[in-house]
Amino acid sequence: MAHFVDVILPIPVAQAFTYSISEAEYDFLKLGMRVAVPFGKSKIYTAMVRRTHTQAPTLYEAKEIEQILDEEPLVHEVQMKHWEWIANYYMCTLGEVMRAALPGAFLLESETIIRKQQELDPAVTDLSEDEWQIYEALQQQSILRIHEIIDLLDKRKVLPAIKSLLHRGVLSMEEEIYEQYKPKLIQYVRLAPAYEAEALMHQALDDLSRAPKQRQILLSLFTLRAQSKKPLPAKKLLNHAEATTTQLNQLVEKGYLELFEIQRDRIQFDGQSDGFSKTLSTAQEAAKSALNEVFQSKDICLLHGVTASGKTEVYVSLIKDLLQTGKQILYLLPEIALTTQLIKRLQQYFGERISVYHSKYNVQERVEVWNNIYQQKAKAQIIVGARSAILLPFSNLGLIVVDEEHEPSYKQFDPAPRYHARDAAVVLGQMHQAQVLMGSATPSLETYYNAKTGKYGLVSLSRRFGDIQMPENQIIDIKEKHRKKRMTGHFSDTLLRAITDTLEAGEQVILFQNRRGFSPILECTTCGHAPQCPNCDVSLTYHKYRDQLRCHYCGYHMAMLEQCMACSSPHLTTKGFGTEQLEGELKALYPEHQVARMDSDTTRGKFGYEKIIDALEQGKTDILVGTQMLAKGLDFRNVSLVGVLHADSLLNIPDFRAHERSFQLIQQVSGRAGRTQKRGLVLIQTYNPHHQIIQQAAMDDYQAMYEEQLEERYTYKYPPHYRLIKISMRHRDYQKLQEASVWMGQALKQVFGEFVLGPETPPVARIRNEYYRTLLIKLSRRQNLKEAKKRIARVKTSFLSVAPYRSVKVVIDVDPY
Ligand code: ADP
Ligand code: ZN
Ligand code: ZN
Repeated sequence: MAHFVDVILPIPVAQAFTYSISEAEYDFLKLGMRVAVPFGKSKIYTAMVRRTHTQAPTLYEAKEIEQILDEEPLVHEVQMKHWEWIANYYMCTLGEVMRAALPGAFLLESETIIRKQQELDPAVTDLSEDEWQIYEALQQQSILRIHEIIDLLDKRKVLPAIKSLLHRGVLSMEEEIYEQYKPKLIQYVRLAPAYEAEALMHQALDDLSRAPKQRQILLSLFTLRAQSKKPLPAKKLLNHAEATTTQLNQLVEKGYLELFEIQRDRIQFDGQSDGFSKTLSTAQEAAKSALNEVFQSKDICLLHGVTASGKTEVYVSLIKDLLQTGKQILYLLPEIALTTQLIKRLQQYFGERISVYHSKYNVQERVEVWNNIYQQKAKAQIIVGARSAILLPFSNLGLIVVDEEHEPSYKQFDPAPRYHARDAAVVLGQMHQAQVLMGSATPSLETYYNAKTGKYGLVSLSRRFGDIQMPENQIIDIKEKHRKKRMTGHFSDTLLRAITDTLEAGEQVILFQNRRGFSPILECTTCGHAPQCPNCDVSLTYHKYRDQLRCHYCGYHMAMLEQCMACSSPHLTTKGFGTEQLEGELKALYPEHQVARMDSDTTRGKFGYEKIIDALEQGKTDILVGTQMLAKGLDFRNVSLVGVLHADSLLNIPDFRAHERSFQLIQQVSGRAGRTQKRGLVLIQTYNPHHQIIQQAAMDDYQAMYEEQLEERYTYKYPPHYRLIKISMRHRDYQKLQEASVWMGQALKQVFGEFVLGPETPPVARIRNEYYRTLLIKLSRRQNLKEAKKRIARVKTSFLSVAPYRSVKVVIDVDPY
């Protein structure tokens, strides 16, 4: 009898592929093991076993597999089921899901790069002929691709030799390097508390009359202290006193001064070194028991807790209770890079039990975490990760926390699988019979709707931890301010006064400027021409720092123009304003203070975010200007003022979520104010002071926002009442795309009638020289979703069978964001 194996290939091919195997291989292979298989003329892919059987494929002759790569499976059956759900629900292939899930190291393929790692120990003589040949080739080139090795050895079965050399440390597979970032701590200096009394200060100065330099240091300290209440960096003091570190240290030894550091570590800040000694407040306790109560009867619950209500501590407490059961816990975060603060906190609490899964970790580390989870090791009992962590090999999940569940970054845009990690987590939870806890101060409409209609449980935490009041929100009408000439640049007099007061009190300021729609664009004042990207239908954006014009879609850039490209006039202005421009204005207004900027430019480099966050935490930065990145759960002690520069900027974006997102952003940014001691102040500048969203955000009225938006979504047939499936099509040939999209629209309308919108040209109609058209299908909750998707898939298949349309790229996005 012949034996076969169906495998998943890591490429977007629709069906499973069948290969032929021997009887021994048939007995050995299990679901989730990897095999290397030939594909096409000369390609090798790593494929994964889905099932073994004895039915020969009817349409083609099965090739033999090249090699079995694993002794044990890498993937559990339940995980494969979850991958299948993702592939079906989000209308992509299982191979695409596998590719997103597996660390690159597991996915050896023809293009995989092999690097020379180290010289062979001369004592080694037992290399095979193949191994020698590869080794020698690496001495010449130091980099080889697998397909080159196939050519070199003139045979297919090259993997055993590569594997053996890998074990000997002679070569390595392609990998990225991830280094841990350690903040450089600044030394601060203060007067020893014993000398704080006035008389004793004088005493100290007298004592030091014979050490003039040391005395000078002390005098400088008094001067600087009078100027600012902020912690005093030792360096600043030494500069002022023109003294040396040795002289300062002498004062420390004598007990007049103390040196200290400000660490990012919150737990020490609170004077508690043992992570678990944090006791929940009464409100947090109540929320926790309410959650436990809900979990008696439901598996999914939303924790709706205002900003700084201490949601994290509630999650931590629930996780702690679960540890003894041995069950695995998945803690999902919107973006790892932005949440290093939180990860540090969790590591303090759970130490050895926690593993972070991070796409920036190098291959070895990711493989290690993967294996630890697969084997249910204690050190991977708690997994913290961003959206792709839902694809890991869990076998025994007890709890999934989806922190900041409203965050759009839970949805993957590109490439497939275009999944929403929160929604996929709900399904994952069901498969494991695990509890799913979603948390947010500003829940997404979908989730809140599910909670309100009883599908999920709902628990609220409506006070900030420590009973600190919610910040005071004030709306500032900048139309009015402009009319009365009370604007300086982009700042109203009210905001400037508040900034000045805050800085004088030694506190910090965060200013938020929305990214979208506010990039500065160059415009000719003579003819109105604005330079466009040659590859995309967008205006180029002016970047002052690099003195360049850049395209945000394709990266095209050119030097700043001296004169207009159309009329040669030298009179050019920059319209709109970005964070960079604000930073410039602030530096001019507050030359004595440190202004920093957090946006996609400044965070691009290695540890970009961490450096900016550290500078703020350590008091190096006085004013931080930033984009949406500021809205992601950051927790600072000393920020007492938050300014929103232009609150209505998001409202006009053509997206049915624009209002909801505006509310969430304003609320989340304002939530950074006054988190720990006194009440914070939030100033919201807007041209539309009476807009309901601005009003609702300023009044912290989530309910009003929710009800009004829900009504609108109903009227205009949007989620949560309707489901959306978006179809985007693109091609370099404009005419062909037009025709193709009309064809597709008509075919879909035959099935879904009036519930098809489009084809439409999206706001940016051309990117990287490809034109775009989109179609939107709205499905009512009563419609059978599975059936609808099947029909869409059928339409797509017939579309692609029309010869001239075969080259049109069609992307289906289920639940688009
Ligand atoms: P949220 O996630 O709801 O915005 P956090 O969990 O970040 O709020 O908590 C806000 C602040 O309050 C943090 O600085 C946190 O350390 C502190 N905090 C919360 N709960 C407690 C507690 N039980 N004991 C001590 N500090 C707490
Ligand atoms: Zn011009
Ligand atoms: Zn471009």
